[in-house]
Amino acid sequence: MAFRSGFVAVVGRPNVGKSSLVNALVGTKVSIVSDKPQTTRHVVRGVLTGPDFQAVFTDTPGYHKPRTPLGDRLNRRVEEAVAEVDAVLLVVDAASGVGRGDAFVAQREVAPFRGPKLCAVNKVDLLRRHAEVPQLQAASDLAGFDHVIPTSAKTGRGLPELRALIAAALPEGDPLFPQDQATDQSMELRIAEVVREKALVLTREEIPHSIAVVVEEIERDNETGFVTVSCRLFVERESQKGIVIGRGGGMLREIGTRARMELEEVLGARVHLEIRVKVQKEWQRDPVAMDRWGL
Ligand code: GDP
Repeated sequence: MAFRSGFVAVVGRPNVGKSSLVNALVGTKVSIVSDKPQTTRHVVRGVLTGPDFQAVFTDTPGYHKPRTPLGDRLNRRVEEAVAEVDAVLLVVDAASGVGRGDAFVAQREVAPFRGPKLCAVNKVDLLRRHAEVPQLQAASDLAGFDHVIPTSAKTGRGLPELRALIAAALPEGDPLFPQDQATDQSMELRIAEVVREKALVLTREEIPHSIAVVVEEIERDNETGFVTVSCRLFVERESQKGIVIGRGGGMLREIGTRARMELEEVLGARVHLEIRVKVQKEWQRDPVAMDRWGL
């Protein structure tokens, strides 16, 4: 049987359970920010790899009222992200009831999409069975879905069906990510490289090869789309730490600002960047450290 693979945009109002559902489908806690391996930008929520398929769940920044140029850009990104994926999964919240907010998202992000459309009517664990049918009906009316599935990210209900329907919706193709990987680890290395490059450029000639950067945490706020990146910048000596931090912290601020601006481009999101500087004597001669840092 041919392998299937592709991107699935998970869309829906805030709090309907998009993250919970993806985490439950993928089976591990993943909420990392990431990128498609080639050129197109996507924020990856998780990768579900089955025996004969791989679904890469992507995030969209969510709908923001376009009050600012940034808001406009985010909205365009929503449309672009949906246009590029292979399937769309709309998540609605059966407990709060399918309503106008869902209709809005469906009209904007689902209806224009030409490929397979699925709808997960989530949180059915909070409903009595007889209350479920009207919610399923209301969800069906939101757009021309291929399938509408009652699910619970909490109890796991509907997840095997949903997995199978997602697999069937994908086109034939090779895996996009290594098959044992739930998220794209290479994004951490890429972020580290951006920070390192800014530090090297700004401190030029003073500490050429003594800087290493390790990303410790990437956290995305699903509500605001804001991404917090925490990293550690290693130098070999106290004197180098002084150079990197600069007078009154000015150098570190400048490194941070430049890196943040580039990361916002790379990640397509607003970024809060934390850089902590640490002296690690002779890290270049420490194979364990270098392994850990992917150097
Ligand atoms: P998102 O904003 O759409 O990504 O929503 P989250 O995944 O963050 O979920 C919002 C809230 O709903 C969280 O408190 C979840 O624990 C809860 N939740 C998500 N899915 C379910 C579900 O199937 N059943 C119940 N009872 N709660 C859920």
